[in-house]
Amino acid sequence: EAKKRVGGNYKFYNSEIEKRYYNKIELENDLKKAIRNDELFMIYQPQFDLSTEKLTGIEALIRWEHPRKGMISPVEFIPIAEETGLIVPMGKWILRTVCEQNKRWQDAGFDPIRVAVNVSIRQLQEDDFVDSVKEVIEETSLEPEFLEIEITENIMRNVSDLNHKLIALKEIGVTVSIDDFGTGYSSLNIISDLPIDSIKIDKSFIDGLVTKAKKQVLAKTIINMGHNLNFSIIAEGIETREQLSFLRNNSCNIGQGYLFSKPVSAKEVEEYFLN
Ligand code: C2E
Ligand code: MG
Ligand code: MG
Ligand code: MG
Repeated sequence: EAKKRVGGNYKFYNSEIEKRYYNKIELENDLKKAIRNDELFMIYQPQFDLSTEKLTGIEALIRWEHPRKGMISPVEFIPIAEETGLIVPMGKWILRTVCEQNKRWQDAGFDPIRVAVNVSIRQLQEDDFVDSVKEVIEETSLEPEFLEIEITENIMRNVSDLNHKLIALKEIGVTVSIDDFGTGYSSLNIISDLPIDSIKIDKSFIDGLVTKAKKQVLAKTIINMGHNLNFSIIAEGIETREQLSFLRNNSCNIGQGYLFSKPVSAKEVEEYFLN
């Protein structure tokens, strides 16, 4: 009797794993075709200067409209793209698409803005990463100051020659920010030496900002440390007026979040946010 039950449980457990496994294989195969089939597209979330309330830039975020499964979150498919190495060609497509879009806006006469692009560790590990950024800047004729590269803290452990790569990026003229700051592995000693322009305080700090004293201490500390190192501070995931006023009162420079706007299509960026 007991044996049967164990057997039954085992089978259930097994088929769950199997399902997940086949789902992953399926996504992997579909993802390979996604660029070619035009299923990937970028949306953009505006970022505002917290003291002047002016638009300073936008962050580009990828979306996948799967032909049968509908919208799939990057939280689900970016890790698959990273594991399989697909993120490398996909990352090139992202950079090109975003730079072309930004250049088109400028050519149409809108005030120039900076567009931030998320770059995976896996992309930065490629020997030709910096060259591929340079190439895209040249081919799209976007001025480099209007492109920002977002990387995470975890690059510090995983990318060899990081300092050289970042210096080379600075030489091209693009800006670099550290995304999800405070959640990964970073050494303050290393970060203070890296040629970066800004850090983005992770949403997990912003979430408890009004009710949790500890989060306030952490946020203030990150802002002060960043300013002392000459970094500009961006807060992500601002959802309430209270969070906004806390950040403003504590001299955070730039903010983005649902309070201002969710990520929107390129067309909506043009309609609602560009001047
Ligand atoms: P991230 O770069 O930290 O992006 C912020 C995420 O928070 C985005 O989720 C954004 O839509 C969401 N968000 C922004 N404001 C708010 C808010 O006020 N409340 C809440 N609840 N969420 C907010 P998304 O677009 O699903 O992207 C998730 C992650 O996937 C990104 O985190 C980034 O790590 C990765 N990702 C997205 N696009 C790309 C891409 O083009 N390339 C790479 N390599 N990774 C990407
Ligand atoms: Mg980001
Ligand atoms: Mg982030
Ligand atoms: Mg985040």
